[in-house]
Amino acid sequence: MTDFASRVVRWQQAHGRNSLPWQNTRDPYRVWLSEIMLQQTQVTTVLDYYARFLARFPDVAALATAGLDDVLALWSGLGYYSRARNMHRCAQDVVALHGGQFPRNAAVLQTLPGIGRSTAAAIASFCFGERVAILDGNVKRVLTRFLGFGDDLAVGANERALWDRATQLLPADDLVDAMPRYTQGLMDLGATVCLTRKPNCLLCPVQPLCVAQREGAPESYPVKTRKLKRTAQSLWLLQARTADGAVWLHKRPTPGVWAGLFCLPVFDSAEQLSASVPARLHGHLRDGNAFLHVLTHKDLHLHPVLLDVTKPQVLSGDGAWFEAAQWPQLGLPAPVRKLLANG
Ligand code: SF4
Repeated sequence: MTDFASRVVRWQQAHGRNSLPWQNTRDPYRVWLSEIMLQQTQVTTVLDYYARFLARFPDVAALATAGLDDVLALWSGLGYYSRARNMHRCAQDVVALHGGQFPRNAAVLQTLPGIGRSTAAAIASFCFGERVAILDGNVKRVLTRFLGFGDDLAVGANERALWDRATQLLPADDLVDAMPRYTQGLMDLGATVCLTRKPNCLLCPVQPLCVAQREGAPESYPVKTRKLKRTAQSLWLLQARTADGAVWLHKRPTPGVWAGLFCLPVFDSAEQLSASVPARLHGHLRDGNAFLHVLTHKDLHLHPVLLDVTKPQVLSGDGAWFEAAQWPQLGLPAPVRKLLANG
């Protein structure tokens, strides 16, 4: 085993995270579920969702036969809803194409919806001890610093070179035990020691070998020049309500923002919104309090427009009235759920 790998493995055993609910299992369904949820979401948030998902969909067959609306409803609040849609498709593919068993190697796992190279490697190393490298954001930070890898990761060839270096560092023997611990160790180091700002090098098991630490400027790694530009968008939401509190919701088209979720009708302008409402109701439209909802690469300026109607009637487009008791079962975008909760 490389010195790097053996240090990571020993450290994980003594100081890493060993009691998360998706650890200590080699069940690929559970590992896959946690890996998808942990993409872009903190461990503390995932814990609750993971437990609820498993209770509702205890195995891949249960998830595959569920309706997408049920999956999105359970995912509601986790964000990045394409993960939930891909997960549902992936479960269906595992059942239809692989006899209900997850493939046992990273190369085939990667052909499934929503499973990228790093996620495939995580599942294959945790469950089957395959010698494959993960390279998510945290691990890129650890490895570029350890190696002093200063090439720009926005360039595909440089990223591929880092995958190669990551593969060279993997444990070479006792793979069934060493690979899960090594993979978990790298994740733990990235999440708890080699932090983006102020890495805790004194607690780091690979500190004596680390190039960036020796150079004195670990925070200058990783190098990635191309930044995604933030954009802003204004949207108007028709919040139509009946006297007993039902709201008019419709299902968002795919693709697009909040695809497949139930939502208040969304418009690009106040004029478009009023044009969608029957003329006899125009005098009842009232501006609500506008608010900002921040997505990863976009600021959404949301303008609710209230419309109180005396009795349920068909409003704009395809939609239906939903009473408050039904909302918890629906997949709703987080800002819309908040808006409805505030009445
Ligand atoms: Fe990161 Fe510091 Fe460890 Fe190097 S020594 S890998 S910079 S925590």
